[in-house]
Amino acid sequence: MARKSVISAAILELLQRPDHHAWTLKDLHAGLGETAADFSSVFRAAEKLAAAGVLRKLTLDDGRAHFEPAGAHHDHLHCLDCGELIAVPCLIGRDACSTLEAEIGVTIAEHHVILSGRCAKCRVVDAGHAGTG
Ligand SMILES: [Zn+2]
Ligand SMILES: [Zn+2]
Ligand SMILES: [Zn+2]
Repeated sequence: MARKSVISAAILELLQRPDHHAWTLKDLHAGLGETAADFSSVFRAAEKLAAAGVLRKLTLDDGRAHFEPAGAHHDHLHCLDCGELIAVPCLIGRDACSTLEAEIGVTIAEHHVILSGRCAKCRVVDAGHAGTG
């Protein structure tokens, strides 16, 4: 059984890979090799990294958590076909937040937008199906 710090390091290394943008625990567990660490160790290591601010944890409506390296702010598109989370540039600028704060008298500390739709890959497949009619 791998030591905790080894699992954390392996998780951080996996997250640098281009295959997924944000990884679910299942993805991480599979990526590490299921014999390298048991699921609960992966869960604990990922939660700990998120609590330390090293990772950002995104929980979707279906309850599945996705982890990504904490970094510059961006928003996401959740693909309804393949379930991938894709990074998209922020749609809500600081100006829009300031306007809203002034308009309704609130303070916005942070935001995270998750758009629903299709990623570029799934969109191409769908377009292919439609054909030329
Ligand atoms: Zn997709
Ligand atoms: Zn992201
Ligand atoms: Zn944003």
